[in-house]
Amino acid sequence: MSIDVAILGATGAVGQRFIQLLENHPWFRVAEVVASERSGGKTYAEAVNWVLTGNIPDTVAGLTVKPLDETLTLTSTLVFSALPANIAREFEGRLAADGHYICSNASAYRMESDVPILMPEVNAEHIHLIERQQSERGWKGGIITNSNCTAAPLVMALAPLRKYQPKTINVVSMQAVSGAGYPGVASLDILDNVIPYIKGEEPKLNLEPAKMLGLYTGESVAPLPMQVSASCNRVPVLDAHLVCVTAIFEENPSIAEIITAWDSFIGPDPVPSLPTAPAQPVIYTHEEDRPQPRRDRDAWNGMSTVVGRLRPNTVFGGVDFIALAHNTIRGAAGCSILNAE
Ligand code: NAP
Repeated sequence: MSIDVAILGATGAVGQRFIQLLENHPWFRVAEVVASERSGGKTYAEAVNWVLTGNIPDTVAGLTVKPLDETLTLTSTLVFSALPANIAREFEGRLAADGHYICSNASAYRMESDVPILMPEVNAEHIHLIERQQSERGWKGGIITNSNCTAAPLVMALAPLRKYQPKTINVVSMQAVSGAGYPGVASLDILDNVIPYIKGEEPKLNLEPAKMLGLYTGESVAPLPMQVSASCNRVPVLDAHLVCVTAIFEENPSIAEIITAWDSFIGPDPVPSLPTAPAQPVIYTHEEDRPQPRRDRDAWNGMSTVVGRLRPNTVFGGVDFIALAHNTIRGAAGCSILNAE
């Protein structure tokens, strides 16, 4: 099987990760690359400043970049989007109306009531919201978003614990520079420094995890009744977002019950057998100084979330723990590819 796919925003941090992850994919073949008018008309190799390890795949280096404008037409039905949110708002809707299926990393449509924020191990049934997009908006295709990159480790860690009813969450993030895209944060701002503000990030954490963990009612998603307070920080790490979490539950699980829930967590069939699915979505580490970005971000090709430092919170109740996920893989392109699979 070989399904042609297009990548919007193909030259950016997430777009490059799509191209790297899709090299040798068993089902998908990158047929079209799209970026801004600045890149349009150039070969992909000329347009991109490749920042990932390894070379640009030969099959993509010579593709001509299509500029994103009113005249854009795509032959691929399946489209991966790594566009800035304001651009995504206009073009993703237009393409979905025309019959394309968009797996998007942009925030533009995430909180629309008929759009899933899909993470297949966590909420595969939310994909049925596409049927509402088609019946109510008249779209011939549809939009599937994936989460904000910082929501990814939080949601993966909380999903196995839903039966204990998480109700109050405090999260402090340490987010990699690749999360700001390319060229992102100036080196003079971030080296030897921590920036305690990421524009627009904290409100997303207040809302997206509750939707992702919510119940699909057959028509919409009822968000999990959970309050999230977030403080987001940019740190001088290349890839991977680490979150320090305090979680308070309605029904207090023991430390052993939490570890068992993490260790045994697996998505519904057929998710575990999909090409990009990790064998173990959540990996608990007993080591006292893990997870760490450099050592743990590539767990299961960057698709697993690594959790550790689990301990009772003796002040507020509940527990404290650390969770880490690769922001451009599990938090972006990798999750999008799994959604498409
Ligand atoms: P980025 O590195 O800044 O890349 C942006 C891409 O969009 C580039 O290919 C750029 O093309 C293209 N673009 C910019 N302006 C455009 C325009 N007016 N018309 C058409 N294309 C345009 O950003 P990124 O970090 O990859 O993020 C992409 C999206 O994913 C954003 O919505 C972001 O919030 C989301 N996201 C990012 C991460 C992450 O970890 N980085 C994680 C989850 C979600 P040119 O090269 O031609 O300018």
